[in-house]
Amino acid sequence: MSCQPVAVDRELPPRRMPARILDEIFRHALDTGPEECCGLVSGDEEQRYRRIYRCRNEATARHLAEPDVYPRDGRRMFVMNELDYQRASEEAVARGERITAVYHSHVGSDLVLSALDQEYACHPAFPFPDADQIVIAVRDGRVAGAALFERDPGAGFAPGRRLEAEPA
Ligand SMILES: [Zn+2]
Repeated sequence: MSCQPVAVDRELPPRRMPARILDEIFRHALDTGPEECCGLVSGDEEQRYRRIYRCRNEATARHLAEPDVYPRDGRRMFVMNELDYQRASEEAVARGERITAVYHSHVGSDLVLSALDQEYACHPAFPFPDADQIVIAVRDGRVAGAALFERDPGAGFAPGRRLEAEPA
């Protein structure tokens, strides 16, 4: 798999999700800045984006414990806490839903799916191999943009699409 950063194609029509879900993700991103936030979105066939689950980003803890293995801290990468994502997944299943997307933020950097993000999402141990990826760019303490990167079977990820709130 090529691991070039996947950019957002602004020519493509945006993807829409409920304003409430987008607001909750944005709030999480602003709450954790200057560190990256991370979490999950669950849904079903009828509504792909019904609920979000905040997960703890343990990249800084890992970086402090094993700087050789984890050269970046939570400002530059995310590692989802295992207990948090297991609990979220169980809650989703109990509601008849499944995890449909993983979100995380980039603080002061670009709205792309980075090479590191793709390695993480495509790693054999990654728990949600079918989930799309949502990236939120935070700059100067505000949300500068959000994009959805959908799985492209056999080819990693499709070009990103801007994310917008569904009209009320
Ligand atoms: Zn990232």
